[in-house]
Amino acid sequence: MAERGEIESYLNTLLAVDRFKDYGPNGLQVEGAAQCRRVVSGVTASLALIEAAAADGADTLLVHHGLFWRGQDGRLTGWLKARVEALIRHEINLFAFHLPLDAHAEFGNNAQLGRVLGLATDARFGEQALGFAAPAGALADLGALVAAVQAGLGRPPTVLPGDGRALRRIAWCSGGAQGGFEDAIAAGADAYLTGELSEPQAHLARETGVAFLACGHHATERYGAPALGAHLAERFGLEHRFIEIDNPA
Ligand SMILES: [Zn+2]
Repeated sequence: MAERGEIESYLNTLLAVDRFKDYGPNGLQVEGAAQCRRVVSGVTASLALIEAAAADGADTLLVHHGLFWRGQDGRLTGWLKARVEALIRHEINLFAFHLPLDAHAEFGNNAQLGRVLGLATDARFGEQALGFAAPAGALADLGALVAAVQAGLGRPPTVLPGDGRALRRIAWCSGGAQGGFEDAIAAGADAYLTGELSEPQAHLARETGVAFLACGHHATERYGAPALGAHLAERFGLEHRFIEIDNPA
């Protein structure tokens, strides 16, 4: 058991939240019980996850995608009201860490995605150093890389194959980081993995020869929250469980 405030300051320091320019507030987003005993981690603070956490007896929910984002007008209506109401009714603390959780060198989404794919990070690149890169190692051809993604993430990526070169270096950035493709190319990548695909990447892959793999936004961001939750549980003697809410994205 631990005080909410103790958990809050530990997480804010561990994830260096002050160092990031982000699209929403990082840290405690909704205040619940003063004492934390049972943590549920998940990717997104959806109503389904909040209800599953409540059914699991959690007093603390730890997610990558919280409730509040730049551009919202601040009204607690509709789906947002329903989510906030469920958290408050069950006295669940909501901790959300967006870019700080992508970036963390051990528990972050990108560090954990590298672990799942068997890639040993040796460089960072791009905006706020969110991009990770590694020697291709055993994944030196595109077929092997696609197979590793399929096996590790449990779903086939959408592949823009580039020029068929041997892969020397692989770069990645979880979630909606398709805009980081050019930074990855500039950083020397022969293939770039992220969650999503937009229109420009197909042309860039053809014209630069660098392969692009869209592996799923949710699928690439499934590993940071449980790694952080497990660490928190060990550090403070809490119970922890990751709850997967299926998402085809
Ligand atoms: Zn995301």
